[in-house]
Formats: sequence, structure tokens, C-alpha cells
Amino acid sequence: MPATFKAAVLEEFRTPIAVREFPLLQSVEPAGVLVRVQMAGVCGTDVHLWKGQLSIPRPNILGHETVGIIEQCGEALQHDWHGLPLRKGDRITWSSSLACGHCFYCKEKRQPTRCLNRKAYGISYNCNEPPHCSGGYAEFIYLRPGTAIFKLDDPLSTERVIGAGCALVTAIHGIERLGMNWGDVVVIQGAGPVGLAALAVALGHGASRVILIGGPEARLKTARRFGAAECLDIEALPSAEKRIQRVRELTRGYGADVVIECVGSPEVVPEAIEMCRDGAKLLVLGHYGDAGEVSINPHHITRKQLQLQGSWGSEPRHMAQALEFLRDRGDHFPFEELVTHRFSLERAMEAIETTQRWQSTKSVVVP
Ligand SMILES: [Zn+2]
Ligand SMILES: [Zn+2]
Repeated sequence: MPATFKAAVLEEFRTPIAVREFPLLQSVEPAGVLVRVQMAGVCGTDVHLWKGQLSIPRPNILGHETVGIIEQCGEALQHDWHGLPLRKGDRITWSSSLACGHCFYCKEKRQPTRCLNRKAYGISYNCNEPPHCSGGYAEFIYLRPGTAIFKLDDPLSTERVIGAGCALVTAIHGIERLGMNWGDVVVIQGAGPVGLAALAVALGHGASRVILIGGPEARLKTARRFGAAECLDIEALPSAEKRIQRVRELTRGYGADVVIECVGSPEVVPEAIEMCRDGAKLLVLGHYGDAGEVSINPHHITRKQLQLQGSWGSEPRHMAQALEFLRDRGDHFPFEELVTHRFSLERAMEAIETTQRWQSTKSVVVP
């Protein structure tokens, strides 16, 4: 094993990410795993983290969507989350967050994604502290005891898993909380990875029609191939009033049964409320980062009898469902095609910039 490893490091918010070398741990804990990173996805959240919209420790190795090959497996770690045997050389992915299992939210309220001691790779760890390799934008990552690991078998490709990324598990979790009815007409705001994943999951939940609002055209093309009945290009419809009007026209004047916000800009939330029919459900899924405030009229929520739902991150079981979905339905929803831009570790900053400017559908870092 090499004595050191390279990683792309966020030293401080809004400063260029640069490659640094750290000592590589030489032996793992009995239930730990050292993984050689094959590919790490660049999530929209990484852009928010880079901007400082969440308070995270620095320096930090970003990257919470990762596939890699086991380099060293602790002797006590025999199996993955499903009970499949694990050994050196296996290709794996994992749930990026760890819940403690014994706090108020884990134990009493069964809300492990809000665990008071929750940690996430690529987000919660200061990489100056051992074992240093704590995020996906690196040659190696160390998976601590308790990580939910999933062995990947062929033909489930790394590109498909990373193309779906944390967007798919986020959408699965959010729509599970929201609850959908067979035949629902769904509006999705946003054509980024979360919007496209929500489209796939909504169709999987029996949506009769999905109207997707977003851009640019390349992403809308993917949305149409995934099965969106209508795509509203925000360039052609730059005003919220026009978009609301168009959604009403497409829903016999009533509005949608379900609206799923996957944009992350506060101003789309009041627009979403306007797009809801009376008695509709609204899922606010895109605000992982704190993008600020917006004013809404609560009267609309009362009068329209709206059900408002938030959802944060995901649990390991959502990852299991996502991988199952990618195995079974991946030909219908070719998430691997979302991977449009590849970058070396040295170009990790560019990877974040292309994501920020919507130049890529999905950028990935290939160490
Ligand atoms: Zn993410
Ligand atoms: Zn907990």
C-alpha cells in the first residue's frame, strides 16, 4: 500500500479546491474498510458546501457519492448490508451518512436522518484529523465501523450508480414520506439530478403524468426520455405567472395533485403552492443548503388544505431500494447517461464549477 494518498481539499469556503497529500492509514479497525475510490459524483450539495451554505469543518474532502474497490477489509467485517460476503477487490458503494442508533431521534422518534450525532462522508469530517481520507474526492476513503456497505455486482455499472447518486436516494426518501396515490398528476420543479430522480421515482409510484419544469434543453431531453409527459423550459417561460398558468392549463384548471420542489431556490416555493390543486401535496426536497428566505401567504396553505412535506438525506434502506431500482429499471431510466463530464482530482474545482453553471448534467471526479 502507498504511504500517502492524494485528495482534492476544500481549505476554506469559496476558495479554490486544491490537491494535497495525506498519510494513508496502514491498517484498518476490525469493522473498518479502506477503499480505493473509482468514481465520485459531484452533487449540487457540494456547490452549496463550497459556498459555505452549511457550516462544515474545514479543511474538508468533499464527495458523498462514491464507488470504490475494497483495498483492505477489517477482519470483523464479513458481510455487506444485505449479508453478501465482502473481500478485498470487491466493488462497493455505501450510504454516505452514519446514524448513532441511540439518540432521541434514532431511538425514540425513528428519524435517523435527523440523528443528533449524524456524520456524513464528504461533509462532516475535518480531513486534517486521522484517518484523513473522509470524502470521495480522493484516491482512498476510509469507511468507519457502522457504515452501510453495498456490494455491487455486474452488470450494475459504476456510471449508473454515480449517475443516480444521492439524488435517487433523496427522491425515494422524500416521496416515501410524502406518500403518492396511483394516477397522481405530478409537477416537478427542477431538471437537475434530484428532479430527474424524482421523475423516475414518481413514475415508479404510479404517477399518471409528470410535468417537469426546468432547463437547459439537454436536461429536458433526458426528462422526456425518462417519461416526462410535458417539459416546461424555464427559458421559454421565464415568469412564474406564465408557468403557473401553463400548469393549470395542463391540469384542467385545477393544479397538480403533487408538486415536488427540486430546485433549491426559495422563490420557487410560493410558485409551487400556486401550482397545487386544493388538497394537494407539496414536497420541498431541494433545500439541503440554506438559500435564504421567501415570503409565502399561509392563507393558501389553510384554504387549499395543502399537505407540506420536507425530507432530509436518506437511510441505508433507501440506498438498498435505489440499487434495486437501478438493477431492475435501469434500462428504462439510464442514469449512466447523466454522467456528462469527467474530471481528475487536480480538476475538482472545475467539476464543481461546471455543476454550479449547469454546464453538466452530472460531473464526476475520477481519481
Ligand atoms: Zn448529494
Ligand atoms: Zn442518533
